Amino acid sequence: MNKIRKGDTVEIISGNYRGVSGKVLKVFPKERRLIVEGVNFIKRHTQPTQKNPQGGIVEREASIDISNVMLICPKCHTRAKVKIGKIEGGKRVRICKNCEEMIDM
Ligand SMILES: [Zn+2]
Repeated sequence: MNKIRKGDTVEIISGNYRGVSGKVLKVFPKERRLIVEGVNFIKRHTQPTQKNPQGGIVEREASIDISNVMLICPKCHTRAKVKIGKIEGGKRVRICKNCEEMIDM
């Protein structure tokens, strides 16, 4: 089970962007990769479109490996290891190991 979800804030823990934090824009669970806002920009050539008839180069975030990030707990604002817990009704939740607060899935 993937413990990081779209919309989470994560901190990059290795590579060129170490120490940078940002919001998760997209998760690719099968590849175990994700895209973090503002992290790992690459230049991409674009085809000409009506809006941009010249085509050109845009910078976009590229995916990074999920093992390079850590979740920032929204409750205690520290890098959090999380465990999966169950609450009444069988709903699964993430629990921050630092503050023991629940973090919505
Ligand atoms: Zn916490």
